Amino acid sequence: MFSMPNHWREELRLFLGTLIMSGLAGMLTGQLLPCLLLGMLVYLGWHLYQLARLAHLLGQNGHDGPRPIGLWKDIVPRIQERQDSNNTRIRNLSYQLDRFRDTVNTLPDAVIILDHSGRVDWSNPAAENLLNIVWPDSQGRLLTALAPDPVLGEYLENSEFAMPLVITSPANRAKILSVFVTPLKHEANLLMVVARDITRQYYLDTSRRDFVANVSHELRTPLTVISGLAEQLNTNIPDPAILQRSTGLILQQARRMNELVSDLLTLSRLEMRRESAPEEHVPIEELLTTIVEEARTLSGAAQHVVQLDIRSRDGLRGNAKELRTAFSNLVTNAIRHTPNHAEVRILWQVDDEGAHLSVTDTGEGIAARHIPRLTERLYRVDASHSRDTGGTGLGLAIVKHVLERHDAELEIISTVGGGSTFTCHFPAERVIRPGAAENTAISD
Ligand code: ADP
Repeated sequence: MFSMPNHWREELRLFLGTLIMSGLAGMLTGQLLPCLLLGMLVYLGWHLYQLARLAHLLGQNGHDGPRPIGLWKDIVPRIQERQDSNNTRIRNLSYQLDRFRDTVNTLPDAVIILDHSGRVDWSNPAAENLLNIVWPDSQGRLLTALAPDPVLGEYLENSEFAMPLVITSPANRAKILSVFVTPLKHEANLLMVVARDITRQYYLDTSRRDFVANVSHELRTPLTVISGLAEQLNTNIPDPAILQRSTGLILQQARRMNELVSDLLTLSRLEMRRESAPEEHVPIEELLTTIVEEARTLSGAAQHVVQLDIRSRDGLRGNAKELRTAFSNLVTNAIRHTPNHAEVRILWQVDDEGAHLSVTDTGEGIAARHIPRLTERLYRVDASHSRDTGGTGLGLAIVKHVLERHDAELEIISTVGGGSTFTCHFPAERVIRPGAAENTAISD
């Protein structure tokens, strides 16, 4: 059965009350109709007043004012409730919007929305650095005019966006960008363009490709020599002198390949182990004494004068195996690039700034233009000379990696014809005083 809500019942009572009161007043005064009309006018006036209040309330979002009566008791709180929930939703939405805008604005990637004619509808701040698109100045302008790149223009025109596009940044020619384009999900006539700076990745990939090509080339040369000689030996039995020469050459090339592979393995181990190797107290004096003995043996008949100048008994906190490889590479290089009987000097000293190991030779020296590139993998000043002297082109790359892992730096000073000095600078925090060594707990 239909049951009337309380407020409506109250409203009905009010209406009937007004009607009865004005009817009674009409009967008493003998003016029934005017009194009824007046009563109804008062009733209507009251509702008009409530309506005006409601309009005022909706306008100012407030909850104040006189308490409603009758059916307004039902309507006003419902409207207020709905208004409150709308306000909360608007607040939430605007918070979400702010957060979204903030996120897109702090993105390092450029984000641009294009309309159906390729004009900028919106862009984030990163679009300025990467694509020359400044918000809001660029709004309504063609992307292809702001970032004039024929490849990008063609890409947008063809509307084939399955694969991202790689271009040079129109805003900074040193940057390489990967550009993705996709239509917006709910507004397919708008395109979202995202440009990402992939410069580092791009050059890493290029250098990796070059490296693989160079290593293959380095390995192919001795392999060609070995297989050529083996074929000759296979087809005709040479006289003993030629046989000896051929086997000697095969051995030499095999040794070269072996050295290259072993250097490659050392380098890849250093590169792969991102975390530092177990550290210990490395007594540098001992380490250098061994390296010098080996250098004298390597020099052999060339009789280089290898001098060891130890000015400090301090050691280093580091990985002995890695440090030995690095120092040994520097000393071997010095021997290789210095004429017979000439001097190679190894100096170990410690000052307030840290510890310094320098290897100075009196050899051929290196032209300034090569110096910044010496630590690149497989970089050689003179490839054929380096191969003749047994170099793999990886020695200084290994040195650089080891030093990086020990927070140290390599300094190269050289003059053509005047010899070279390679210095490893270690920070003071890595220096260990002789007495302190036993008491120093070294973490792995
Ligand atoms: P390699 O094994 O060929 O010596 P490195 O990476 O050790 O490779 O050195 C790179 C290049 O730097 C060498 O090919 C050589 O040209 C140059 N170089 C290194 N050390 C010296 C040095 N002491 N004197 C002159 N040139 C050097």
